[in-house]
Amino acid sequence: MQAFNPAMDETNLDPEDWAAFRDGAHRLLDEALDRMAQYREGPVWQDPGPLQRTFTSALPREGRALEPLIDQLITSHKGGIGNTHPRFFGWVHGAGTPLGLLSAMATATVNANCGGRDHLSTRLERQIIDWMRSLFGFPQTTQGLLVSGTSMASIIALKAARDRALGFTPAADGVGAHTLVAYTSHEAHSCVARAFDLLGLGTNALRKIPVTPDFKLDTAALREAIDADRAAGLQPFAVIASAGTVNTGAIDPLDDIADVAAENALWLHVDGAFGACLQFSQQLAPRLRGIERAASLAFDFHKWLHVTYDAGCVLVRDGDAQLRAFSKRPDYLQGTETGPAAGFPWAVDLGPELSRTDRALKVWTHLQYFGTRRLGQQIEQNVAQIHALADCIDHEPALERLAPASLNICCFRYRLLGQTEEAHNAFNLKLIRQLQSGGIALPSDTRIGGNVAIRVNLTNHRTTQKDLDLFLAEVLKQGHAMVRA
Ligand SMILES: *Cc1c(COP(=O)(O)O)cnc(C)c1O
Repeated sequence: MQAFNPAMDETNLDPEDWAAFRDGAHRLLDEALDRMAQYREGPVWQDPGPLQRTFTSALPREGRALEPLIDQLITSHKGGIGNTHPRFFGWVHGAGTPLGLLSAMATATVNANCGGRDHLSTRLERQIIDWMRSLFGFPQTTQGLLVSGTSMASIIALKAARDRALGFTPAADGVGAHTLVAYTSHEAHSCVARAFDLLGLGTNALRKIPVTPDFKLDTAALREAIDADRAAGLQPFAVIASAGTVNTGAIDPLDDIADVAAENALWLHVDGAFGACLQFSQQLAPRLRGIERAASLAFDFHKWLHVTYDAGCVLVRDGDAQLRAFSKRPDYLQGTETGPAAGFPWAVDLGPELSRTDRALKVWTHLQYFGTRRLGQQIEQNVAQIHALADCIDHEPALERLAPASLNICCFRYRLLGQTEEAHNAFNLKLIRQLQSGGIALPSDTRIGGNVAIRVNLTNHRTTQKDLDLFLAEVLKQGHAMVRA
């Protein structure tokens, strides 16, 4: 046999000088740990423009040396939106932990593609799904996946719901001129309507049900809407409840909604993006009563549980429906009984993605290191902090609370004596923008009953009472200054 004789010098992309690469990597790790240990320093957020300019170049034709690149990676540590800072109160972002750095290293080392097959991370993923199944009181029939977030989790769950309602024909036939309708509250997250768009049902098929004064779905109105749709010849198939809305943290009456779903043979999907994490706290879990009756549940590990982005989770009670909605493997992806292609179902049988990042190792590491009790305590801490904040606001004549603050969100505004709602809205929006660019604390804004609110969201294990005091002092200082100006 003739010896194989390469026509060119063979190369690869690994370091030529491992020792120098190792030095650079150690330097980067030390800088990352320093940065994480000093999480309190610097502004919460700063305009990324100047930083970005140091990253701007033409598409490189030739590569560069490692050392200056490591310098740039170190600079990138300052480029975040601020969610690692104790006074980041915007939107619903998790804060992450230094532990995430460690699992990220192991994850990159293995470079697993978690679309399927038989390797450690696909097995860990099944383990985590089983832990969550049992934590939330779901039956053995449950299937699930780790996904990019609650948006994707909801798309997957609602596809299973849609397909089951239509006898599993849409995969081949499309939805055509369907008569499916579903229900959620006015306070539901926009990802639910997005799912209806993507699933070809159209957002009009998603009825927005009014809320009671505490911002929870009104079950009487839900019953009426279902009856009206039935009478009109439509086919109600699902109800989407929120366990923790983005605006106020309201938890819909899950048990009552589960009753309505059972009476009407509706698929109950629960969006528990952050609120479902109350299940980690013995003290707060009772607020989720009824969640164990859901047909599917979407929640995030990357928000209130602080796993490094991204890590969401979907559980589907009728695992068979999830399988039938997604499992159509082509020949080249056929599984085997044993060996590297073993293990049924693969992730690709349960969701739309084939190539998938490994989320299991970091979630597994996080749960092992902290344990559910500790993670639950951090959640309890945020809830107690929000109660204290709401109390301070209620005792401050210049401030006015706009919604109940019963979970981890407090919406309020600066009060202007004798001014219109319009004037309040313009003033408070300006105040929020000033606070956001000021760097001391970062709230976000929303509207409550049409009125602009300063929104404080605590999904942050680093926040202390002192941080909230400092924030309120800053709101008052800037608000008073604006009134004087
Ligand atoms: C964040 C959030 C979502 C979307 O979740 P992603 O993880 O960002 O996809 C959905 N619903 C609620 C209530 C949320 O807070």
